[in-house]
Amino acid sequence: MRDFTLHSYQKLLEVLQQSGYQFLTVTDYFQHNYDPNQPFVILRHDVDKRPQQCVHFAQIEHAMGIRSTFYFRVIDGQVYEKELKAVLQAQHEVGYHYEDLYVAKGDSQQATVTFSKNLAILRQFYLVQTIVMHGTPHSKIDNKTMWQNVDYRAFGITSEPYLDIDFSTVFYLTDTGGCWDGYKYSVRDKIAQFQPLWEQQGLIYHSTQDIILALQNGTFPSRVLLTTHPQRWLNNPILWAKERLIQHIKNYIKQWVISLGR
Ligand SMILES: [Zn+2]
Repeated sequence: MRDFTLHSYQKLLEVLQQSGYQFLTVTDYFQHNYDPNQPFVILRHDVDKRPQQCVHFAQIEHAMGIRSTFYFRVIDGQVYEKELKAVLQAQHEVGYHYEDLYVAKGDSQQATVTFSKNLAILRQFYLVQTIVMHGTPHSKIDNKTMWQNVDYRAFGITSEPYLDIDFSTVFYLTDTGGCWDGYKYSVRDKIAQFQPLWEQQGLIYHSTQDIILALQNGTFPSRVLLTTHPQRWLNNPILWAKERLIQHIKNYIKQWVISLGR
């Protein structure tokens, strides 16, 4: 069976559900809105492009009684309005997927100005309380460094998962790289401090089936942040094959870039 399709995502959710996992939005986690004696998975989605895919995710989850957090970008004052409304219609949380420091070419003052404007645009639709950086792997600029001198709480923001989640107790998985062990190709979408420890513990998953097997044999961590990019999860075989090929080439380039930085 092809991996990284809507079918395989749904299957993953089903096995998590059967294994007794609670599904949390990012805000649920920070508000301790869960049973601490049961395992949980925080579902985070970054809507980078191909926004119609996030609507499929939103609807699949909604049909299963699951709520999650979708982070939307604001590009030149524009949002994927139709898709954002569909996500809200399906009862999910919306956050801001910011890249203001990159857009401001590293000028943190300018980044703060556009951050505030973009947040206001998103808040026309939803009272955004959580933000997460867009990785901009092709740039030297790390968007989350804009918070070194500015506190996002001043904007009514309560959390930035990369900065605020306690990764000593929450395991991180992302589909960046088109697999679940793409941290080796990823410039920023990883938790560098804890990754070596997780590898030592054998918490390495390549395919979605690897995760499913770990859930079924009871070795999967009980507190997890799962980041997905819905654009990568495609049922259409032609689009799927194209995405896989592009991902392969990107990983190759990213690995090369990372090796240059060493
Ligand atoms: Zn992104």
